[in-house]
Amino acid sequence: MTKFTDLNLDPKVLQAIADAGYESPTPIQQGAIPPALEGRDVLGIAQTGTGKTASFTLPMITLLSKGRARARMPRSLVLAPTRELAAQVAENFDTYTKHLKLTKALLIGGVSFKEQDALIDRGVDVLIATPGRLLDHFERGKLLLTGVQIMVVDEADRMLDMGFIPDIERIFSLTPFTRQTLFFSATMAPEIERITNTFLSGPARVEVARQATASETIEQGVVMFKGSRRDREGSEKRQVLRDLIDREGEDCRNAIIFCNRKTDVDVTAKSLKKYGFDAAPIHGDLEQSQRTKTLEGFRDGSLRFLVASDVAARGLDIPNVSHVFNFDVPSHAEDYVHRIGRTGRAGRSGKAIMICVPRDEKNLADIESLIEKTIPRIDLPNAPAAKPEGDAPEKADKPKRTRSRGKPKTDTAEAEAAETPTRDDVPTEVPAPQQKARGGRRGREDESKVVGMGDHMPSFIALSFAERRTG
Ligand code: AMP
Repeated sequence: MTKFTDLNLDPKVLQAIADAGYESPTPIQQGAIPPALEGRDVLGIAQTGTGKTASFTLPMITLLSKGRARARMPRSLVLAPTRELAAQVAENFDTYTKHLKLTKALLIGGVSFKEQDALIDRGVDVLIATPGRLLDHFERGKLLLTGVQIMVVDEADRMLDMGFIPDIERIFSLTPFTRQTLFFSATMAPEIERITNTFLSGPARVEVARQATASETIEQGVVMFKGSRRDREGSEKRQVLRDLIDREGEDCRNAIIFCNRKTDVDVTAKSLKKYGFDAAPIHGDLEQSQRTKTLEGFRDGSLRFLVASDVAARGLDIPNVSHVFNFDVPSHAEDYVHRIGRTGRAGRSGKAIMICVPRDEKNLADIESLIEKTIPRIDLPNAPAAKPEGDAPEKADKPKRTRSRGKPKTDTAEAEAAETPTRDDVPTEVPAPQQKARGGRRGREDESKVVGMGDHMPSFIALSFAERRTG
């Protein structure tokens, strides 16, 4: 078995790895670190949870430990698609450079330019940035990229989804031709292939198996649900979600609830809160400070339910999530794999429950063909659809009458609920069992603390490794 000490890393980096409690390198680390240390370009096909961040940060730090930073000319650059991911990479750098004197700056939106300028002016070894913010700094004339010796592109497929590829191409062209490039993507879409063919030279290609095959520790289920009426579907679906959460009881220590649209993220979080669930939303339109606060709360256990969009949650390393609820069936089958991969990490058990309405059945079929298994159907006796015909919740009608008085009619029940929750979203009293479930949470959390590897055990354990495999 390969050991970290076999990998030629700087002794101080090895010390930091030992402090972090890592025993051996993950497959992506075994594959990417040696060529990266030789100065070669690396094309890593891996997703979050595989240890990929350390697979580029560890060799970078080792290489950078030998030189010095110059004012305004960072020696290395890491590009990440979202602020949270960039911040996560920065945290990794802090962990692994703790015995070295390397400087870093994090350039993300929502933070003042002044603070960031001051750091760059002093000179940094590592610049970690989202593409847009980096170009803003560049255009303000505060930054030179001609000193970049190592450039990392992380989560390239997400960059593609978010429309960042032109920015990435521009940034590549601003860095020296002689730079070393470490490029990571979970999938190899044709556009990504084109970029790597253009900007990487003779890369070592390292691929770890897709997580689609690695979710054995996650118990999956899907509830087939049909609203009593289209305009009631949203609120009835939220009722289904609450029932599902209740049914999990104390086993549901915490959960990420995924919605396909940002508006639904807000509506669902608001509705859950109204019912006494400890929930908060996270998506790209929220203030950075609020996103950071919400994530911190979820990580430290003070927030139980994180309602999220794919972009906001993709790639986030949040260990120890007991449940994932897919409020909507994702429209890209691969997103399902990413979403449920937030639970069941590091061999722990996890549960992923999805709600499927009739129009999403095609997407459900795509998911099942991707993961090559049928997701077990779960009955939900309390679901409105399971009630006899004509027994549609009468109260759903009433609040609309009251609420719409003196107000213009909104398009959908969701839009209405975003401003003023429908009456079935506003409980007169919070059901007792929920309170109990929440009350029991702290104790369980303590029990679930992992000894030795901390809370950082990733899901790569179940992944297999294929070096230089194509496709
Ligand atoms: P990533 O795929 O970079 O998001 O990493 C997932 C998690 O794995 C992070 O929490 C890391 O701290 C952790 N990790 C990375 N490398 C190792 C390793 N060799 N052994 C144990 N944990 C690791």
